[in-house]
Amino acid sequence: MIEQPIMVRIFDITKESPGVKTLFFKSKLNFEPGQFIMVWIPLLDEKPFTISYFQEELAGISVLKKGLFTNALHNMKKGDKLGIRGPYGRGFSIPKTLNSCVVGGGIGMASLATLTERLGNVTIVQGTKTASEIIYRERFKNMNICTEDGSIGFKGTTVDLFAELLKKQSFQRVYACGPEKMMYRIFELCNSRYIECEVSLDRYIKCGFGVCGQCDCSGQRICIDGPVFPSNELSNMKDFGKTLILKNGKRAYC
Ligand SMILES: Cc1cc2nc3c(=O)[nH]c(=O)nc-3n(C[C@H](O)[C@H](O)[C@H](O)COP(=O)(O)OP(=O)(O)OC[C@H]3O[C@@H](n4cnc5c(N)ncnc54)[C@H](O)[C@@H]3O)c2cc1C
Repeated sequence: MIEQPIMVRIFDITKESPGVKTLFFKSKLNFEPGQFIMVWIPLLDEKPFTISYFQEELAGISVLKKGLFTNALHNMKKGDKLGIRGPYGRGFSIPKTLNSCVVGGGIGMASLATLTERLGNVTIVQGTKTASEIIYRERFKNMNICTEDGSIGFKGTTVDLFAELLKKQSFQRVYACGPEKMMYRIFELCNSRYIECEVSLDRYIKCGFGVCGQCDCSGQRICIDGPVFPSNELSNMKDFGKTLILKNGKRAYC
């Protein structure tokens, strides 16, 4: 694990959708699917991102354009430098023999991408608001796609599509990443059918290594105890699906 940021050069950039770019850099990170790195732009900020591609010495982060930091990442060019430290946290468990399903909502699919590759034969659900937001269509050709406006695939949310799949397929383990309300409902559906579920929680992360407490969720620090949590732990986290702590320290509803 890299404790202090090291500077890497952007080796390549690909456009995954109008709002998502993947920035590739050369790195020998010892990375497990579901872990994250802290990305530093000097004089601006440092923020958490999942490694969404990892092949030999080339790693990539897929970035959804939102605010100041992600806009700055989108404006970067090949050869520009970034600071990275990590990887941090607990990733997904990977028992290859289980019949599994991954459910990605929006940019949540980035956290599930390397897991999906590791699992190999896995059912994939990806959902977005509209067709143009779907990512990795060439990478994962067998995805079950849904959109809220019905512009491609099943019309509805990932929860709706997952519930439909459950009528005809059974799974031993389900992995989810996306908006917290979505993950909560997937977790509930899994619980009602005794299916193991793991979700990657998203909280405001400042330090990344467990000292500041900003990313607390019911006494668990997302950055080192998570970001991935299994069903049995989620069942005891009363803030899951309900409340989070904002950047300013105030509690808010998810
Ligand atoms: C473990 C983890 C992995 C993540 N992986 C990815 C990824 O692979 N791709 C991706 O596009 N995004 C990822 N994110 C979210 C990403 O960190 C934020 O979208 C980004 O920091 C937004 O910064 P901004 O300045 O552009 O937007 P802002 O305007 O500052 O924030 C927009 C929203 O992004 C979230 N956010 C902002 N800062 C942080 C922070 N320090 N920690 C957590 N959330 C924050 C908040 O929900 C906020 O409302 C991940 C978050 C976590 C916790």
